Amino acid sequence: MNADERERDIANRRLSRRGFLGAAAAGLLAACTNGGNESAPTTRAPTSSSTTTPTPTSIAPATTTTTSVPSLASDPFTLGVASGDPLPDGVVLWTRVAPDPLEIGGGLDPEPVDVAWQIGTDENLRDVAAEGIAKAEPDAAHSVHVDANGLEPGRDYFYRFRVGDYETPIARTSTAPAPGSVPDALRVGHVSCSHYGAFWAGYRDVAAANPQLVVHCGDYIYERASSSGVRPDPLPEAVDLDGYRARYALYKGDADLQAAHSIAPWLITWDDHEVENNYQGVVPEVGSDTPEREAFLARRAAAYRAWWEHMPVRMAAPSGPDLAIYRSTAWGGLAAFHVLDTRQYRSDQICGEDGGDIGPRCDAAFAPDYTVLGADQEAWLARQLGESEAVWSSLVQQIVVQQWRFAPGNGAWNLDQWDGYPTARDRLLDALRAAPGSGGTTVLTGDVHSSWAGSLALDFDDPDAAVVGVEMVAPGVGSSPSDLLAGLGPVILENSPHVAWTEGEHQGFLIHDITPQEWRTQFRLVDDATRTDSPITVASDWVIEAGGPLIRA
Ligand code: CA
Repeated sequence: MNADERERDIANRRLSRRGFLGAAAAGLLAACTNGGNESAPTTRAPTSSSTTTPTPTSIAPATTTTTSVPSLASDPFTLGVASGDPLPDGVVLWTRVAPDPLEIGGGLDPEPVDVAWQIGTDENLRDVAAEGIAKAEPDAAHSVHVDANGLEPGRDYFYRFRVGDYETPIARTSTAPAPGSVPDALRVGHVSCSHYGAFWAGYRDVAAANPQLVVHCGDYIYERASSSGVRPDPLPEAVDLDGYRARYALYKGDADLQAAHSIAPWLITWDDHEVENNYQGVVPEVGSDTPEREAFLARRAAAYRAWWEHMPVRMAAPSGPDLAIYRSTAWGGLAAFHVLDTRQYRSDQICGEDGGDIGPRCDAAFAPDYTVLGADQEAWLARQLGESEAVWSSLVQQIVVQQWRFAPGNGAWNLDQWDGYPTARDRLLDALRAAPGSGGTTVLTGDVHSSWAGSLALDFDDPDAAVVGVEMVAPGVGSSPSDLLAGLGPVILENSPHVAWTEGEHQGFLIHDITPQEWRTQFRLVDDATRTDSPITVASDWVIEAGGPLIRA
């Protein structure tokens, strides 16, 4: 949106808040929660199907003597809104109150703030399904995670937030379809690696593509600035909570990212840059600013907390260096999405020298306990895949599963990808093979700033080996393509019979159109990432007919 449109938008917001003003005046309803920032909702049945209004159960009576609304000189909703982790009866709604988002404290005093929220079934929010007041707590960077529930399955909803005189634009989200129901179609946006160094025409086009769900495979922020020189990043490398909060604030101020969040619920995982480049479990990168274990764990705790504060996720706040984020979302009986964490539990990558990514595998790579997912997550995933009744089973994760052979023999592998963990990958492929869906299994990947389509075979060197799934790797939506990897693309294709296609010179994202009969994937590439208004080109188009192989459409 240009400056004029933004001005009009702000004016419209301040004019269009009739019913909502009442809610917030009553807003002086304090939500009684257990010290977190979850909201106490009031749920109403949709007026179209019922006239019953249940009695609110957990909102204290209105009072005019307390207020948690600060005096604000400017719009505090500088970081937009988001929604995520949809269920058949609910969805998480997110915002953060931060009139000065790059300042420590976001420009607010360290006091709780009451944030009114509404969700309803029409785009003007005349038909409110649920509403309430959430407490934005200073120890959560004044973010709120509203778990809006009591909703109907498989439909669009619209929501907004309000503090004082300021209100967010109305955004769209949706609930997942009812268990067992099989919707005709689902459109999914698939993004990864959004370094602030480039402009995000890809995020703008995600919104334009009108998906019902967006998956982000990690590297949503980077801990340090890009060297691309395309747009200024004024922040130092993040090593503590204030540093990570500032990085999220910088990124989430972007209008194209806000637009992509405003169109649909997201399923989000992380990769390394949400903490530090190439960290593995409790081991920092070579040359880290936090080389000692204790310092690195304190840094990881800060990074995970800031991630939780800024993501629309349904999980309790972390209180230390651990946060379990692996989880599943079912889209009725059409698709099951299993969101993985391939960083937190990973064995230290010990085969490479000095943290280098390319090198030979060492004996340790074949040890049974040399792991990407960790034993607990691995067992959980095998159960989820084995028990799913969805037509399509899909992994949302970071690192490349398909084998990239740069040359014959064991000379060189990309040790930071699943190629560096061959025994663990065999177990993953076994779990994918056991998934009973009639469509197939798909792996949605990021991390490598380039586009790849390929099949997952039980023997990657045998062109006729059994195939257990398909992998689609999204390029960075903002992160610069790697000249090295772009140059190696033809070599990898030549030596890797199950890799079908690659493009290594552009940013972009993927759109997956999923039906009970087929899974279709478009690679949409940004022509010029130095421009906010770059055109987008569909570079290639792939289809998997249910139970069939990957075919170029
Ligand atoms: Ca990464």
